[in-house]
Amino acid sequence: MEILAFGVQADERPLLERAFAGHHDIHCLDVFLTEDTAPIAAGHEAISTSVNAILDARVLRLLAAGGTSMIAQRSTGFNNIDLDVAEELGLTVARVSSYSPYSVAEFAWTLAMAVNRRIVRASGRTREFDFRLDGLMGRDLRGRTAGVLGTGKIGEAFTRIAHGFGMHLLGWDIAENPACVELGMRYVDKDELLAASDLISLHLPLLPATQHLIGRDALRAMKDDAILVNSSRGGLVDTDALVTELRKGRFTGVGLDVYEAEAGLFFLDKSLEPLQDDTLARLVTFPNVLVTSHQAYYTEDAVGQIVDATVRNVDDYAAGRHSENVLVPAAPPGTA
Ligand code: NAD
Repeated sequence: MEILAFGVQADERPLLERAFAGHHDIHCLDVFLTEDTAPIAAGHEAISTSVNAILDARVLRLLAAGGTSMIAQRSTGFNNIDLDVAEELGLTVARVSSYSPYSVAEFAWTLAMAVNRRIVRASGRTREFDFRLDGLMGRDLRGRTAGVLGTGKIGEAFTRIAHGFGMHLLGWDIAENPACVELGMRYVDKDELLAASDLISLHLPLLPATQHLIGRDALRAMKDDAILVNSSRGGLVDTDALVTELRKGRFTGVGLDVYEAEAGLFFLDKSLEPLQDDTLARLVTFPNVLVTSHQAYYTEDAVGQIVDATVRNVDDYAAGRHSENVLVPAAPPGTA
């Protein structure tokens, strides 16, 4: 089969090409899948997409009309895919249900430490030979409280590191994780976690129930000197409400690897264009905010696992096998 892969990063391309060799032909594109680019997929039974692809009803209908019947999403999250419409169209959609949770958990900690210890500002200063410490004071984490919203695979890995720092551990989830309880985590309600935590890290999927979970009220419930890290999905945080609170001078630091309007921006070079997103433009002006463009998963280990799982997903589809990675169980190939 020939697979057309959209949104392939330069570092990812050789990994994809190597993994698919001997299985299927892969053709990699750096453009993301949108309504404008969907026609390129015409004639390809299987395509592969990345996290910022737009797989809404219109795009899915274009793909189906062009003969596509399988979508191999190269991520865990699938909030960008209208699964009901995919099912209605008889498409098979598979994702990568798990890969190194350490990639994301370690990056969440990188953001937390960078904002706490003012690393970006310090680096800028030393490059200018300004060796003063004014404005660079951080806080010890030992003995302080980490609040983890979502204690699944990534939340657990984050919690293990917090435990290593000697932090008190609070958790909030619909299901308790025994491994986190064993580390000393106390599960509390969300309001208690928000009010008591010095560092709050989000590790939840984006669902209708979690959309803008961190909105105006949640932000106001947080300590003025808290650190907030979001390495999950941008839609968990109401960014306008966050900007309003930041303007009051609140929070020691905010580290964001994801942003609710990131599609069409993140992973792209926009440096020569006037930025049209005023919220993002304002966000990056705060000295206590660090924004990265959805790179938490971007380690050799995690991307290698994502690529291998994507090959398996296409193999399973071609062989008519069901796997736990299939989100929409369409009819086997040939009957769809
Ligand atoms: P997971 O499924 O192992 O854990 C998610 C946790 O959220 C589970 O414990 C679950 O019980 C809990 N949960 C689900 N719905 C909830 C709700 N309504 N209220 C409270 N708790 C709820 O997932 P994971 O592998 O730990 O990934 C977490 C998230 O991280 C993903 O959904 C994805 O959005 C994000 N992620 C981001 C990147 C990145 O590069 N920035 C990479 C991978 C994953």
